Amino acid sequence: MEFIKLLQKFEKDGKKLLNANQIKDIIFSDNIYETQVRDSKLKTSFWPFLQIDKDKNILDAFCSCKTGEKQGFCEHLAAAFFYITKKNEPIHVRFKKSFFNALFKIVSFYIGFEKKNLKKKKNGSYFYLSSSKKEFFYIETKGKEIERLEEYLKEKKEDKDALKYSAISLDDMNLIKEGRASDALKYEMSFFSDLAKWFFLLAEDNKYKIEFKEQQDGLYSQVIVIFADIFAKFYIPFSSFEEIVPTLNTVEAKLKLYEFQGKKIEKILYDRAKKSFSIEKTKGFFEEEKEQKKGIKVGEYIYVEDIGFYPQKPNELLKTDVVKSDKISYFLSKYKTIFEEKIENEKIHLKPYFPKYFMYFDEDQNLHIKMYVFEKMDFEKPFSCFFGSWAYIQDKGFYLLEDLFFEEIEEIITKENLSEFITENRIWLHNFEGFQTHFGAFQSHLVYTLTKDLNLVFSSKLEFPGEFENFIDFEEWIYIKGIGFFSKVEKRLNLPIRPGLSIKKEKIAKFIKSNREELEQIDNFFIENSPIEKIGLRIVLNEDYKIVITPEIKVKEGFDIKNFQFFENFMYLKDRGFFEITKSLKLPEMYEKEKIVTKSNEAFFITFELQRLKPYIIFLDKRLEKPKSLSLKLAKIVKRKRKSKTIYQVNLEYQSEIGKVNALDMQKAIIENKKYIFSKAGLMFFKQARFNWLKNLKKPKKSQKDQFLELTSIDIIRLFMLEDVKVAKTKDAEQTKKLLNELQTFETDKFCDISLLKASLWPYQEIGIKWLWFLYVNNLSGLLCDDMGLGKTHQSMALIAAIHKEKNFKFLVVCPTSVIYHWEELLKKFLPSIRVYVYHGVYRKLDKFTKDCDLLLTSYGIIRSEKDKLKKLKFELAIFDEIQIAKNINSLTHRALSNINAT
Ligand SMILES: [Zn+2]
Repeated sequence: MEFIKLLQKFEKDGKKLLNANQIKDIIFSDNIYETQVRDSKLKTSFWPFLQIDKDKNILDAFCSCKTGEKQGFCEHLAAAFFYITKKNEPIHVRFKKSFFNALFKIVSFYIGFEKKNLKKKKNGSYFYLSSSKKEFFYIETKGKEIERLEEYLKEKKEDKDALKYSAISLDDMNLIKEGRASDALKYEMSFFSDLAKWFFLLAEDNKYKIEFKEQQDGLYSQVIVIFADIFAKFYIPFSSFEEIVPTLNTVEAKLKLYEFQGKKIEKILYDRAKKSFSIEKTKGFFEEEKEQKKGIKVGEYIYVEDIGFYPQKPNELLKTDVVKSDKISYFLSKYKTIFEEKIENEKIHLKPYFPKYFMYFDEDQNLHIKMYVFEKMDFEKPFSCFFGSWAYIQDKGFYLLEDLFFEEIEEIITKENLSEFITENRIWLHNFEGFQTHFGAFQSHLVYTLTKDLNLVFSSKLEFPGEFENFIDFEEWIYIKGIGFFSKVEKRLNLPIRPGLSIKKEKIAKFIKSNREELEQIDNFFIENSPIEKIGLRIVLNEDYKIVITPEIKVKEGFDIKNFQFFENFMYLKDRGFFEITKSLKLPEMYEKEKIVTKSNEAFFITFELQRLKPYIIFLDKRLEKPKSLSLKLAKIVKRKRKSKTIYQVNLEYQSEIGKVNALDMQKAIIENKKYIFSKAGLMFFKQARFNWLKNLKKPKKSQKDQFLELTSIDIIRLFMLEDVKVAKTKDAEQTKKLLNELQTFETDKFCDISLLKASLWPYQEIGIKWLWFLYVNNLSGLLCDDMGLGKTHQSMALIAAIHKEKNFKFLVVCPTSVIYHWEELLKKFLPSIRVYVYHGVYRKLDKFTKDCDLLLTSYGIIRSEKDKLKKLKFELAIFDEIQIAKNINSLTHRALSNINAT
C-alpha cells in the first residue's frame, strides 16, 4: 500500500529514466531484483533492490541514493519497477515460462551443474561433448559478450550468488547444504539459469534468431539461438522436446504452439435471460483432425512438420457454441482466463469472494439461510443467478465464490432438523448476530427429590427465566429472537436414570452403588465434602462398672447428625445430597454394633484393645483414660501413738489432669488384687513403679476410718523418696507442714556444718537441708521438690558445704544447659571455697577436673553423650537440677544418669 503511493510520487521521474534507456543491467532471482540504473545527473549508477509479486505488487524496495534513504523510494526504484513490469507480467514470472529457461534447463540436466563440465576452445567458445561424442551444448561470443560469458563462467561471482541465496527458502537452503537438492533446485542455483536469464533479457530488447536443425525421428533435435554477438547450439533429444513446446509462443520462432487448434476465440457473450454464454470463434487455417493425424505425437502434442504443435486434447471451448447454465460453473472454472479476456458484455472477477449469509425463521419455525455476495438482495434481482461456485450478480458480473457453506442460494432447515443442525454448526453460527449459540444460560437438569416415604424420585427441570416470551423450543436448543440459541444441555444420562424414575428406599443404597458415575453428573446428588468428621466409638463405664462400646458418627461443624437419613452405607442430608460412608471411614466389624466388655475380657481390653481402638474413639470415659500427669498431694497428716509405735494417718490423693483419687481407694483395689483401677483421676495400672510404696504398705487389720492411710515414719521416707509429694493448699496446710517439719527433723549423729556456705538460709530452707543431710547420712538419695523459688539451689549448696566440711569429696551438679552459668555464678558466690570446673563447651577436659577441682558442673546433654567417660569418676554427691527431665524412665537422660557413680 505504502509503496503504491511512493511509486506514484516518483512515476514521472522514473519513466523519464526508463525512456532515456538508463536501465543498464538487471539481475534477479525468483522475485528479487537488482537493477542497474544510470543517474546521468550524479554521473553514477545505482542498484536499487526490489521484491515484486506476480501481481506486480511491491513487497520490498530499497535504494542507496539520498532520496531512497530519506523517503524510502526514489526515481531509480520507479524506473526499475517500470522496466520489470513493462509487459503483462513481471520479468521473473515471464522468465519462468520462457523458451530460454526451458532450453537451458534441458541441457543442464544432460550436462550437469558443474562449470568444469564445459570445455573451452581456443577461440573462446565453450562446448560439451557427451560420452558418445554428441555435442549437447555450444556457445560462442563476440565483442562485449565475451567478457559477459567469462563472468558467468567464473568460479565465483558473489553478487549473483548472494542474490540467489537470499531468494530461496530455508528448507531449500538446507537441502543444498545436505546435498539433497533436486535437479530443478540445482538448476536454479547454477550458472545455466544465469545464462538463461541473460538470453531472456537480451531477447527483450534485441534482435535474435531461433533455428531448428538436425532432423531426427521426424522432429528437430537441435535448437540454434543467434544474437548479434552470440551463437549458441542446444541438443534437444526427442523425449525432451515436449518441454519447450509450451514456451514456443514466448519467442519468435518458426515452430509455434497452436493452443486453439489454429482457431481463435473472438468473443464471448452472456445472455442473462437465457443464463448461457455464446462462444464466437474464427475459422482457423488448420481445421480438420484429419490433417493432424499426419503429424507425430510429441508428448501431449501433435507435431506437424514445419508448422508447429497442436494439443492432442483440444480446448473444449472450441467445440462449444453455447454454454448452458448447467455447464457454466465447469467452463468458467476451467477456462476462467479465456472468459475474462474474451467476454464483452459482462465482467468476470477472478479474485475469489467469500459468500455471506443471513437467516430468519418462517411462520412454521423453519430456519431459512440465504447467501449473498455484497448486499442481502443480490440474488433477489431478476437476473442474478448462482452457478455452483460462481455467482452472477446482475449489473456487477460473475464472481468466483470460495468457502461455500451450502450448494444453493437458500437452505431451509426444517424444525425437526434444526437441533442437529445447530449442534453441528454452532461455531459457524457465531458469525450471525442474533443466531449465535449460548451455553449455560438455560439448562435442563435432571434433578431428584426424596419423598416423605424416603423414595428417591428423579425429574427434569428447565431453568428458564420468565422474562423471555418470544422463543422457540427445539429438542436441545431454545431460540430467543434477537439473541440466539441456548443449549438446554440436558445431560443425557444412560439408563436407568431418567425423569420419572422412582427408587424405593430399601433399594436406594444398591441403586447409588451401581449408578454412581451417572449420579455424579446430577447437581448436588453427592455431598462433595464429607460431612463426617469421624465415625467412631463411644466408650463408657456403665452403672455396673462395665465397659460399653457404642458406634457413633460425629459430623462436622454446621451439620447436625439428627438431620441425616441413613440408607445402609449412605447418609442423606436434605438439600445437600448423599454421602457414602466409605470403608476408610468405617469401623472394625466387631464394633459396628453396641458391645459390652465382660469382666473376664476387661483386662485384655484396657491393656491392648483400647490402644488399638484409639483412632476410632470419639468419646472415652474419663475413668478409662490414662492420665498424662499425676501428682501426689498430701491433704492432711495426723500423728497417732499406737502402742509403742508412732503412726501417721495421712490423707493422700493422686491428682491428674482428669481428676483425683484417694490413695486409700487405690490401696483397697491393690488389696483386692486388682491390677488397675478406674478412678476419677483416670485409669491407673498398679504395676507402675511409682505405686510400689502403696503396694509395700502393710495391709490394715481393721477397716480404716475415713480417708486415712496409716503410715510409719519409714513408709513416709520411702514415699517421699519415690514420689514428689506436694502439700495441698487446704485449711490444714499449716498443721500438715508443721507435722512434716517434725517428721523431717530426724536427728543424725553427724553435725551438719554449713559454715562454708556464704549465705544465710530461711528457716524452711534449714529444714530442707536437714532433710537432705539426713538422706545423705543414711545413704538415701533424694529429690528436693519444693515449689518454685523456694531455694532448692541454696539447699543443695548447703548440703555440698556440709559434706565438703567432712572430707574433700568430689561433687557433680547436672543442670540444663540454659542455667549452667547461673549455677557457676551461684557456686562461686556462695561456695567460694569449692573449686568448680564447668565441664561444658568445646575445650572441656576431664583431667583438669580430676586434678584441681572439687565440683564438676555440667549439662544433661553432656551426661548423655559422655556417659561412658563420666562413669569412671566417683562422686560423693550428685545433684540433678530440674530433675523432671530425667524422671521419665524411658528417656536417654535417665539411662545416662543411672550410670553416674555417686554414693
Ligand atoms: Zn535511488
